[in-house]
Amino acid sequence: MIDTHCHIDDPQYVADFDAFIRSQQEAGVKRILVPGINIDSLTSIANVCYRYPDFLIPAVGLHPEEVKDDFREQLNGIKRALDEGLPTPDGTRLHPVAVGEIGLDYHWDITYKSEQQEALRTQFQWAVERNLPVMIHNRDATADTLAMVRQFPALRGVFHCFNGSVEVATELIQRGFYLGIGGVLTFKNCHLKDTLQHVPLTALLLETDAPYMAPVPHRGKRNESRFMIHQVDLLADIYNTTPDGIIRVTTDNACRLFALN
Ligand SMILES: [Zn+2]
Repeated sequence: MIDTHCHIDDPQYVADFDAFIRSQQEAGVKRILVPGINIDSLTSIANVCYRYPDFLIPAVGLHPEEVKDDFREQLNGIKRALDEGLPTPDGTRLHPVAVGEIGLDYHWDITYKSEQQEALRTQFQWAVERNLPVMIHNRDATADTLAMVRQFPALRGVFHCFNGSVEVATELIQRGFYLGIGGVLTFKNCHLKDTLQHVPLTALLLETDAPYMAPVPHRGKRNESRFMIHQVDLLADIYNTTPDGIIRVTTDNACRLFALN
């Protein structure tokens, strides 16, 4: 299993970090992708990823909820990390495999709506120029996010924590995007199960959004990559295959999108 979206640089993982990593690996997690949210996370991500360089894989980006008055300064730091890598405590550099997490979020606050759009357009451009995939966060902003995606035909990536309609899923897949399937799939009355009847397994990635979004039966707890097995079991039912079959195809999908070996 590959967790394509996990905030393992979150302070909630500090106390038991090495034991936590070991228990994920023992449960069959092969890699964890760690998205950035702002310039502070360039440091927090480098500090965790350099200790497990083949297992924890960094991405960098400015999250829409982090877009404030200083967003251009934030973007400058992120651009530098894309070009030069993330400096680590042992003097090496880690090269991000994606631009993320980036997107639009109109849920709580639309004060910086136009700045969010400018930041997203800029980061889409950087991804295309560097031939890197994007990790997209979209909350209550589907129309604007799709409109922006349409302006960049060469863009590829994943819609993280996808929970949209069949129509949106179909367009994204046609454009070469993947859909990130998180713990939401296990929630009661989740319509995503119906949407997936119309989506090929070759378009899906597994993810957690940990420490958030823990699946049933762990809801409300700190999330872990190994808990993805609960999404895997449901996906096996939906796609009429085995859990191993789901793990094999979604692992191939993640390796293809993020150029992992
Ligand atoms: Zn996230």
